[in-house]
Amino acid sequence: MTTTRRSASLLRVALAAFLLLAFACCLLRVTNAQVNQPTPSSVRHVMANERCRMQSGSAHGYCGLPYELSNFQGRHECEDRVWIGRPTSIEEMQQMVSMSAKVQGLGVGHSWHKELFCPSHNETGIGIVTTEMTELRSPIPLASVGSDYANPLDEQIAYAPEFPSDYPIWVDEEARTVTVAAGVTQRTLLDYLSTYRGPRNLSKGRGWTLPSFSWFIDQTIGGAVATNTHGSSLEHGSLSNQVLSFQAVVANGSLVEITEASHPHLMRAMRVNLGRLGIVTQLTMQIEPQSAVRRTLEELTWVQYIARLKQVQSEYKSAVARGSLEAVKAALAPVWDTQIQWFPPLGTVWWASYERVEDERTRASAFDGASPSAAATNVFNQDYFGGTPPSYMMATIQSAQFWANWFQGVIRGNFASGVFPNRRAYVSLSDSQNRMHSMNPYDQYEVSVPLETAADCLEELGAATYGPYALWSGTRTPMLTRFVKGEDGYLSNTHGGPRLYMNMEDFVLYSTGRRNAAFQAMMDILRTSDKCKARLHWGKAGWPEHGSCFDGAAEYPESWCDFGCAVQELDPNRKFTSTVDFWHFNAQRGGDAYDLTSEAGHKACCTKDGFSHAKCKCMSRKTCAA
Ligand SMILES: Cc1cc2nc3c(=O)[nH]c(=O)nc-3n(C[C@H](O)[C@H](O)[C@H](O)COP(=O)(O)OP(=O)(O)OC[C@H]3O[C@@H](n4cnc5c(N)ncnc54)[C@H](O)[C@@H]3O)c2cc1C
Repeated sequence: MTTTRRSASLLRVALAAFLLLAFACCLLRVTNAQVNQPTPSSVRHVMANERCRMQSGSAHGYCGLPYELSNFQGRHECEDRVWIGRPTSIEEMQQMVSMSAKVQGLGVGHSWHKELFCPSHNETGIGIVTTEMTELRSPIPLASVGSDYANPLDEQIAYAPEFPSDYPIWVDEEARTVTVAAGVTQRTLLDYLSTYRGPRNLSKGRGWTLPSFSWFIDQTIGGAVATNTHGSSLEHGSLSNQVLSFQAVVANGSLVEITEASHPHLMRAMRVNLGRLGIVTQLTMQIEPQSAVRRTLEELTWVQYIARLKQVQSEYKSAVARGSLEAVKAALAPVWDTQIQWFPPLGTVWWASYERVEDERTRASAFDGASPSAAATNVFNQDYFGGTPPSYMMATIQSAQFWANWFQGVIRGNFASGVFPNRRAYVSLSDSQNRMHSMNPYDQYEVSVPLETAADCLEELGAATYGPYALWSGTRTPMLTRFVKGEDGYLSNTHGGPRLYMNMEDFVLYSTGRRNAAFQAMMDILRTSDKCKARLHWGKAGWPEHGSCFDGAAEYPESWCDFGCAVQELDPNRKFTSTVDFWHFNAQRGGDAYDLTSEAGHKACCTKDGFSHAKCKCMSRKTCAA
């Protein structure tokens, strides 16, 4: 790695010099040492030994991307030669975007889709993180490790922490909205909201919450929205669906504001932007007062589970056929607000249902002291990060049943029946659990399946899982199953209708060095079976094997080319392409073929409302290297 760096190309040095010159003009701080001798030893970090790019002293140990561009466990690394930009202000970010040929906006590396996350390196690229804004680095109260989950209803637990007044989260209680900087983590946002009491106290002291949020909350809100991160809600949908407006730095360096009212087409593109349209700097999202939520846990056998899902599927299909919204809602009632854990080696399923109830005991949990932060510098070369080492336990204990039982013990508290504030009822992965789970290296995969065939798909998967090849043997953790409503975001996984999502993890590969064939066979079924036709989660693992030659026009037939039109409008010079090979937007009009990301293609097939489906046909990609 060091050798690679030492042989850094002339191009890289040229870019560094260019950045240096321009930044010096603007009184920005790039050290000479960094440019003259771009080796790890010359990198000046924010603080000695500080490996995280978020607030120093952040409560969870794996608090962000280290100085190497990789995921949170030091896997899926980007090329050594790409740069890390750490702007401290929007102006600085705009300058970095304007002067670079290839750019990627980044959160904290809690994704597994390297090709989407890594800045394109054809011309030395730069990954620009959103977590270093000056306001974001001011000390904030952080959830305490010990008490953040233990007793969410404990009235003795500290309440209403003091966030600095310039912390970039702004609540409008009347409008029921929150505006938040993209680099704020979802955990911080939820903690802030749940303890927020505005002057009119419209939440009656209960604080506020996002209507629906994900199981994991230590990613940035900008990164979460970019990849269509979701919890389980057929009412509110994914985080992307809850955004009311975006502010973003686009390819020409300007700062744009996009709302449903001002730019309906671009808004549908921005909702799930995959970093392809610019760098989101700020979002406005819906909020609602925190309420009490009753969580009810049922334990089912696999057979009972499939029977229940089949019933839902059949009633849903007949309600859709009748065209009755009321009937659809009634059919989906059993999965409306539900999270399910399937333990394949045990043949059992936990079905947790959530129901909002009126209860005054809605208090958020503890926060403890903050730590000082330090001034940020701006552009860096990368620094090798060892990453999470193989787990001895995972390598030696091969029994899938052992691990299924073990993980069941770990998460039992997260699923226990009871009444909790939203913030605690839905968010199951606590800060301390996050620390723990980061210790074992793994890849997380997630796919979504249309509700019309979801039960049939799982039945087929179950037959293989419990059949002669015993595919259950490749699993260690339970498979989290969730439901998300249909959305209008062009690249939303649920564009076209509601879907069942299944989250699954491979803990075998990194600790044993062996390909997890049984696990990958399950993924194959999900991707290739006609009953499943699963779409891959944009931010998760499995793209190289299960998404190679991904054909957007085939997988997102109704909206892929609409996204292509937005790409040409916001990024005509293909600055935000990352390293992924799926940005092909082909169309046909009459006998003529067009590339939508060209002036001619855009003119022939795009309107201010998006792709003209009447005039043009969205076409599959022509070539595929794989
Ligand atoms: C342990 C764990 C559990 C998870 N659980 C869930 C879950 O419950 N539900 C779910 O749906 N997902 C889940 N995820 C996936 C995760 O939410 C996404 O991968 C998310 O994108 C990670 O956010 P990040 O801030 O780390 O972004 P990064 O990993 O840094 O970036 C991810 C992508 O978003 C783009 N991006 C990031 N920030 C911006 C920005 N400001 N503007 C434009 N583009 C940007 C990047 O270019 C990149 O393509 C989980 C991830 C982990 C690690």
